[in-house]
Amino acid sequence: MSDHRIRKIIVHVVHIPARAVHSHGSGDVSGINAALLELVTNTGLTGWGEASPWPVFTGTVEASVGALHVHLRPHIEGQDPVQVEAIMARADRVLVDHPEAKAALECALLDLAGQITGLSIAELVGGRCRDSATLSFSVANPDFDADLDDIAKIWDSGVRILKLKAGFADHAFDLMRLERLRTLYGDALSLRVDYNQGLPTADAIRRVRDLEVFRPDFVEQPVNMHHRAAMSAITQAVDVPIMADESVFNLREAVQGVADGIADIYSLKVMKSGGIRRCLEIAAVARTAGISVYGGCMFETSIAHAAGAQLMAALPELNLGCEFYMSTFYAEADIATAPFPVSNGTVQIPNTPGLGVTPDPDRLTQYRIDLFE
Ligand code: MG
Repeated sequence: MSDHRIRKIIVHVVHIPARAVHSHGSGDVSGINAALLELVTNTGLTGWGEASPWPVFTGTVEASVGALHVHLRPHIEGQDPVQVEAIMARADRVLVDHPEAKAALECALLDLAGQITGLSIAELVGGRCRDSATLSFSVANPDFDADLDDIAKIWDSGVRILKLKAGFADHAFDLMRLERLRTLYGDALSLRVDYNQGLPTADAIRRVRDLEVFRPDFVEQPVNMHHRAAMSAITQAVDVPIMADESVFNLREAVQGVADGIADIYSLKVMKSGGIRRCLEIAAVARTAGISVYGGCMFETSIAHAAGAQLMAALPELNLGCEFYMSTFYAEADIATAPFPVSNGTVQIPNTPGLGVTPDPDRLTQYRIDLFE
């Protein structure tokens, strides 16, 4: 046991508007809605974590606030933040699901444990396998001409991976955009397609086959998350690798996904799985089954991005990159004290004790819409 005890639990609800609406197979999003968890110890340390739900995907901010402020609070107060697994196991016993709230809690605990031990979170959970990860930007503006302007700027900044969000308009629009991007940027561009469950299951194989001529690296979550037999059938039928995102939230779904052959790649997200360590467990299942992994994100501030980046650092294998671009290219502002470290198309993973990212007090006040303490 350490000498540190959690004395204060504060939940900051923030809304940061986006520079442009992003459209997906499962809906439009115009900003970041998050619950930032601040844990303060009796020894004066502060740990941060973030819950960034998306109602059509994982859940709601209101549910995350209720989980943290009401249901988990009695099980956090007075605890030793170094005892991460014991606290998280208790959180799972007293509250089902709510993976985003649990991700926030785990991150804030690991941030504190890292500050106490002098280790970064990646080092705390096993060690640092890399210092940076290649960044992917998601192309999701329904106004494709405006998107092309943004893409040109992002390309100039060194980003070479684009993920086209598809399935929110018609098939011809998706093919047209892929054709334009491949023509404009040639094979220097690594191109991916994410349907966010947007394809009609009955016609999915034919539509995915239509994309293959544009040489995407992978096609992500073509159909409804629960249509697992269709995911398996698509994975068997097409040459392009298929990634499961919405179909694999947790370890149970990862194991079942192996048994059913639902994908060639899993998208890891701390918000889906309830934390960094749960993602590492899924990555171990994927590694055992010959499934690749990718670093996904939700609509997040730099706090959750940093948690994802620490996960990327701790992964033994990562060859498809990650998508922690929100605070650099999507949000109107970065809430952190320093800009999230993206340079020349890569995320530089913080290597200071704990999480490595802290909210700026003024920006936190500016973008905060509610406070629970
Ligand atoms: Mg996705």
